[in-house]
Amino acid sequence: MAENLMDKIVALCKRRGFIYPGSEIYGGIGGFWDYGPLGTELKRNIKNEWWKSMVYLRDDVVGLDAAIVMNREVWKVSGHVEAFVDPLIECKVCHVRVRADNKEDIAAHLKTHKDIQVDWTKPQKFNLLVRAYLGIIEGKQSETFLRGEITQGAFVNFQNIINSSRVKIPFGIAQIGKAFRNEITPGSFTYRSREFEQMELEFFVRPKDSEADKWFEYWKKQRMGWYIDLGMKKNHLRFRKHESYEKAHYAKYAEDLEYNAPFGWSEFEGIHHRGDWDLGRHKLMYKDEDLKEEFTPWVIETSGGVDRSALFFLLDAYYEDKKRVVLKLHPKLAPLKVAVFPLLANKLPLVKMAKGIYDNLKAQNIGMIGFDDRGNIGKRYYSQDEIGTPFCITVDFQSLEDKTVTVRDRDTTKQERLSIDDVASYFSKRLN
Ligand SMILES: [Zn+2]
Repeated sequence: MAENLMDKIVALCKRRGFIYPGSEIYGGIGGFWDYGPLGTELKRNIKNEWWKSMVYLRDDVVGLDAAIVMNREVWKVSGHVEAFVDPLIECKVCHVRVRADNKEDIAAHLKTHKDIQVDWTKPQKFNLLVRAYLGIIEGKQSETFLRGEITQGAFVNFQNIINSSRVKIPFGIAQIGKAFRNEITPGSFTYRSREFEQMELEFFVRPKDSEADKWFEYWKKQRMGWYIDLGMKKNHLRFRKHESYEKAHYAKYAEDLEYNAPFGWSEFEGIHHRGDWDLGRHKLMYKDEDLKEEFTPWVIETSGGVDRSALFFLLDAYYEDKKRVVLKLHPKLAPLKVAVFPLLANKLPLVKMAKGIYDNLKAQNIGMIGFDDRGNIGKRYYSQDEIGTPFCITVDFQSLEDKTVTVRDRDTTKQERLSIDDVASYFSKRLN
């Protein structure tokens, strides 16, 4: 059943234009995916909602859009160059990597799979960072990396942001962008990809345990709440504390927000206490002008995967019964907000009126609006349900007489009759 659900989502994503395999006409490329017209809207909606809640609705967070390619010194100082060049083996069950020469870590990991036989990949001398060569001259000067996390951009711009804005501790820097990693074994559809998008907050606090603990708990609650507000089922979510052997090199402590995916509980956002690891390594301090003191702030990070969120929102929204398949996506995330139909494609007055409503809704700035005049109404409803469109409007012969239309609700399939004059205000209410 669970495997089945995954297959259905993968097929639906391709058929309806959410997600395609990368470079498919040339045989594809492992670990890379392309988002089609509807997937692009879904991802954009997720990012917009995140930005709204993390930046627009707060007064202690500012935004940043740092470059993907950075001076290679950044990755040396951040510890990424040294931390990932060990011979690594990867657990084929859960994809956790450990050093092939670390017996303790291997034993500790085997304990997490009590009853299962664990297979490991062969040891590989491996750096997760993807190398990039700049310019036409091969050589050390021109070699750097594609960023392995978007995080470092926030640290190397820490001083710039303090100097150019009015932030005071505690404050955060929010960022959304692409990152790249040499995943040994990409898989589970888009879940483990080599190119992926992150949405991250680096939140700087005074270096005190009480402060760090307070904000760590605060952000845990915020982030879980955000997914639930956007429709994810509470019982499909949980937090899991990192054991010491699985913590990243920068983390003081860490908890994963996990989703109950068909392939098992899977991390898609991490809340990390990075301590003073990064600012300390970059030799950056914060000057408190009021208290006349200088210190290295600690960082509480929320690091979410946009692609993983998109996948889990899709899985969570999938519903089917004997009659139809429905993506019960939250209206804020649905790729199309409303679809408009003329009852018959060959009756010009119906088409004209439907086009008029369609153009009007487009001008309302509520998101993407659809128009469909193919086949019969039942087929159009089916088609819109399958991509999660919350509302459909049908212009019929009664519309021509009394200037009303039917509005059909995706989840209840109930229809109501609405005056055309009220359509715009109706949707601005229902969609916001
Ligand atoms: Zn494992």
